[in-house]
Amino acid sequence: MSLTLPASLSPTRVSSFTDCPLAFRLRAIDRLPEPPSPHMTRGTLVHRVLERLIWEHPGEHRTPEVAAAELERAWTELHCSEEFAALGLDRDEEAAFLADASGLVTNYFALEDPARVDAVGVELSLEAEIEGFRLRGIIDRLDMSETGELVVVDYKTGRAPSARYEKAKLAGVHLYALLCEQALGEVPVEVRLLHLREPLSITAVPSPQTLRGQRVRTVAVWKAIERACQRGDFAPKPSPLCDYCSYHAWCPAFGGSPPSISAP
Ligand code: SF4
Repeated sequence: MSLTLPASLSPTRVSSFTDCPLAFRLRAIDRLPEPPSPHMTRGTLVHRVLERLIWEHPGEHRTPEVAAAELERAWTELHCSEEFAALGLDRDEEAAFLADASGLVTNYFALEDPARVDAVGVELSLEAEIEGFRLRGIIDRLDMSETGELVVVDYKTGRAPSARYEKAKLAGVHLYALLCEQALGEVPVEVRLLHLREPLSITAVPSPQTLRGQRVRTVAVWKAIERACQRGDFAPKPSPLCDYCSYHAWCPAFGGSPPSISAP
């Protein structure tokens, strides 16, 4: 009994597989829907505001007031969407949701001066062929530095990782650098994580060693996925992340069982 290989791998999917192979299978292969969460939906809202602030306004107009107006615009759109309705928030929860998003947008201005940003792309979709599989990813923002080199910028709306997990998270960041190298033929000089909640900026500098390490690691993950698909064996890996997982009903660690695998 085997499972169908996913068509491609992304930085998010690499983390998903290493965090929990079973959750990866349910998400990327069985494609079981996950209910929207306030955390994810708020992240989408804030990303949209910052995307428009940078992409639709010239540098000198990228002020906190314009960002607030863009938040109002994106909030109006979100508020009448099915995704937002599915959250089932009451009035007080809605107000707290919006206030939190507003705080994140305000914090953005503590991390950089948007007037100086020279973006060459936002929500940029990149893909490349690596050793027989497709690596694809969406970059929040790709900048041109003052010295004419690429800089990848990634907005984060959750909490910054503790020192214990920071190294693992930065590994994902270097994967974006590998994607740029493969898809654009140019390695970014920096990958910058803007953690809006703290607010905190973390910068990773790609090197030939980190790129090589990422390539080896990503190919190893893809081969592990291939083996798991051939055997139909994606083991659950219980961890604190289970608290945020929507798949308890399908997970043996919570008394459930995964969907059966049909014979080819
Ligand atoms: S509940 Fe935990 S172990 Fe089970 S699929 Fe989700 S993350 Fe994996």
